[in-house]
Amino acid sequence: MPREFDCVVVGAGLAGAALAIGLARFGLKVAAVDARKPVALVQGGDVRGLALAVSSQRLLNALDLWPKLAPRLTPIRRIEVSARGHFGGSTLCAEDVGLPALGHICPADHLQSTLDTALLNTPGLTPLFGAALAQLTVEEASVQLRLADSEPDAALRCRLVIAADGSQSAVRRHYRIEATHHDYQQTAIVANVDIARAQPDTACERLTAHGPCALLPLGGTRQVLVRTVPREQADRWLAASADNFLADVQQDFGWRLGRFSGLGERRAHPLVLNRANALTAPRAVLVGNAANTIHPNAAQGLNLALRDVAVLLDSLKECSRTGGDPGEATRLAAYAERRRADHARTVQFSDGLARLFALDWPLLGVARGAALVACDALPGLRRAVMRRLMGLGAPPPDWLRAAYAHD
Ligand SMILES: Cc1cc2nc3c(=O)[nH]c(=O)nc-3n(C[C@H](O)[C@H](O)[C@H](O)COP(=O)(O)OP(=O)(O)OC[C@H]3O[C@@H](n4cnc5c(N)ncnc54)[C@H](O)[C@@H]3O)c2cc1C
Repeated sequence: MPREFDCVVVGAGLAGAALAIGLARFGLKVAAVDARKPVALVQGGDVRGLALAVSSQRLLNALDLWPKLAPRLTPIRRIEVSARGHFGGSTLCAEDVGLPALGHICPADHLQSTLDTALLNTPGLTPLFGAALAQLTVEEASVQLRLADSEPDAALRCRLVIAADGSQSAVRRHYRIEATHHDYQQTAIVANVDIARAQPDTACERLTAHGPCALLPLGGTRQVLVRTVPREQADRWLAASADNFLADVQQDFGWRLGRFSGLGERRAHPLVLNRANALTAPRAVLVGNAANTIHPNAAQGLNLALRDVAVLLDSLKECSRTGGDPGEATRLAAYAERRRADHARTVQFSDGLARLFALDWPLLGVARGAALVACDALPGLRRAVMRRLMGLGAPPPDWLRAAYAHD
């Protein structure tokens, strides 16, 4: 007999793990299935630093995870944006929006290992690591899932399957949901570096001829460098000696931040846009990268995914108490409708920026410089950009508002 659950979350990455933990806390019987091993067992982690917006902080706090992340979090109180070779720039400050921080940087492997620990210790939650989805059969009142390499009788049955299995979602393919795809032909090279004159609590974005380059503070002099380069140059950037790589970065940023040194391991991330053409299917819902994989230029992907999680938790929170069916079609349709505007706005914002920065017209550099000066001079525009970056453009669901009302 298959093991029975209310919900099976396929993919226990950053979004799927947070969702599974939340569902179990609301009293639902949940399995979280992931092809990977827990982060603690993996050599050579993810070197990214993820910018968590205020909206994500509120969700993670409501799930009691924020205090566990706190020792490794670095607040961002200022974001400085400037264009190489052009006058002017723009500075976004937390005090302009009356909040203590615009967001926090969290090392990606610390976030995933904190989530993995919670997955393994939350009552009502069955984590299944090293288990890839192999087969999915939709029946009228349930979905049956079989995992690769498992015994035929080791199937799972649930009333709702949640696709949190990333950009190439297997659940999405099983349901034959098409995705709109665009390859930016860019690669983000991510590495940790030291800068001699680190500015506390400040993130920097430098617009250069080959693409934007960001520095995110990790505490002390350590920074996460995210360098966007044309795809055809990625191998050259990865193979360059540490000295040559750092010399190029130094040229991009100049000497205002002091000498760049201490280059860590470099990782390449090809950048694409993938948008599922539907968010739901019979007894299924897509969240996070499975629904929208976006360009990381505005650090919105995970924050958007965690807003999916917050709203889906809101849609399902009563099911345990009332015995409601989590996979009911009207419930899923209502969820999709609630997420429509935020998805459209966020994708448009990051995609628009990506296409603008990719263009290489002679006068565009001047136009970008002028846009930064305008942004700096217009407090209303600056505040609107900041609210978007902080994830405050969309109102939070009621359960979450109640959870942070006492903050
Ligand atoms: C360079 C870079 C920097 C970024 N910086 C930021 C940032 O600062 N802030 C921000 O908000 N976002 C950022 N993002 C985006 C962010 O990383 C993603 O939005 C986020 O990881 C999405 O999480 P997810 O859980 O939906 O998907 P994923 O993280 O892709 O997780 C999917 C999970 O599903 C599992 N899986 C896949 N297939 C199967 C299967 N068949 N069976 C079982 N399991 C499966 C995988 O093992 C994985 O664990 C960045 C992205 C990049 C590339």
